[in-house]
Amino acid sequence: GGGRGAHVRRPLTILVGDSGVGKTSLLVQFDQGKFIPGSFSATVGIGFTNKVVPVDNVKVKLQIWDTAGQERFRSVTHAYYRDAHALLLLYDITSKSSFDNIRAWLTEIHEYAQSDVVIMLLGNKADMNSDRTIRREEGERLAREYSVPFMETSAKTGVNVELAFTAVAKELKSRA
Ligand code: GDP
Ligand code: MG
Repeated sequence: GGGRGAHVRRPLTILVGDSGVGKTSLLVQFDQGKFIPGSFSATVGIGFTNKVVPVDNVKVKLQIWDTAGQERFRSVTHAYYRDAHALLLLYDITSKSSFDNIRAWLTEIHEYAQSDVVIMLLGNKADMNSDRTIRREEGERLAREYSVPFMETSAKTGVNVELAFTAVAKELKSRA
């Protein structure tokens, strides 16, 4: 599109994964350091969030896009994969279907995204350990199979949330 020229685009990071896995909650936790209980609208997201992540004393500016509703209209998301520098792919550790769908997400990503896109797999809702249906090892194994880094996160407690985005920022910086 237009608007290039002197304007330097911020690396675009997109949150993807099934509806309900906690994409919006994760971004709110990262951006505002809080958890807002209850579901966000499945169809209207918070859109873009700009965040500066310090990496080795360098400020890496991330533009993060929360996909909302597009889970059901994936063709919308396809157009954005092409522009993504990084993809955070989420499942919910209490939802087997969201985990099983990760393979389909990765197939799509490999079809539509740039071949050098940074991908990280996140098993979210790590605070709900007693309701867990996906063991950490299953997440690790899947991540190994696709050669992507993996972490369990909680948008509720905030565990590993900064770490996940910082890891992405680090990787983007090293490739810049
Ligand atoms: P999205 O559709 O992927 O954007 O998911 P939402 O962020 O709307 O979250 C779906 C539901 O899961 C909401 O009720 C959230 O409050 C809840 N949720 C999201 N992340 C977590 C988490 O890490 N832990 C717990 N316990 N609940 C979460
Ligand atoms: Mg959402």
